[in-house]
Amino acid sequence: MRFDLITIFPEFFVGPLDHGILRRARETGLVNVNIQDLREFTKDRHRTVDDRPFGGGEGMVLKPAPLFEAVEALLGRSAGDATQPVEQDPKTAIVLLSAAGKLFSQETARRFAQLNRILFICGRYEGVDERVAAHLATDEISIGNYVLSGGELPAMLILDSVTRLLPGALGNEASSQNESFAEPVSLHSGPVTPVKPVMPVTNVAPGAVTERGSNDEAPSFSRRFLLDYPHYTRPAEYRGWSVPEILIGGNHAEVAKWRSEAALEKTRRNRPDLLG
Ligand code: SAH
Repeated sequence: MRFDLITIFPEFFVGPLDHGILRRARETGLVNVNIQDLREFTKDRHRTVDDRPFGGGEGMVLKPAPLFEAVEALLGRSAGDATQPVEQDPKTAIVLLSAAGKLFSQETARRFAQLNRILFICGRYEGVDERVAAHLATDEISIGNYVLSGGELPAMLILDSVTRLLPGALGNEASSQNESFAEPVSLHSGPVTPVKPVMPVTNVAPGAVTERGSNDEAPSFSRRFLLDYPHYTRPAEYRGWSVPEILIGGNHAEVAKWRSEAALEKTRRNRPDLLG
């Protein structure tokens, strides 16, 4: 998988790419990360990437030309124009980070993990000329209902979540199949694809809608997820707080049952919205 980060702050990424899973994925060649300074695609002496908004108002807006040209240079092909739009490569995503984008989720991460290449366009200031969203980006993505000062952290977050889904990234393959948001959980009594955690689905949310949405950014009423179950490690007692007895007993069926129930309880407590 190749990632390109288009940014006016290339130095921003020096730390985050150099630790843990991401570092190893880069070292083993599982991912290749290229950081592209947007200012290289300016032509004036001041290397201007932004300009005042048409119609007036606060702040500055990232100009379309440097962004189109950066993407074209990276892809080695034209992004077209109004008279000649070009077809997108289905294995490449051009992701515009935007507070006004579609909400990112683990399902989006799974979709992205199937691709060969992702280019991230990191906005700054008041945002990015809308023609980038309309005619250059394949996806306009928000990481949550809040506004940040730039697209670099959101890009990093997506890059991280996608990388850890790539086969071989985690070392222990089971880990990414066995965590929060890992699999949709069907909450009705009909036949259910075996999912983890196995749980008493019938008494969770009677009447919950369970069809699979075709749009992977679909809100949670079409798909349900459980959060991960709580994890414990030694010591078995810490400051008087004990690890649940069942986890120490070594009875695998009992442990599995406890984890399913604990995952459900935690989901109810922290994210009731996931259960409907
Ligand atoms: N005026 C915009 C916010 C601009 S913030 C608005 O009200 O929607 C500047 C840049 O930060 C954006 O262009 C985007 O790239 C990034 N950004 C801010 N919040 C974000 C979020 N929640 N998700 C993804 N990117 C975000």
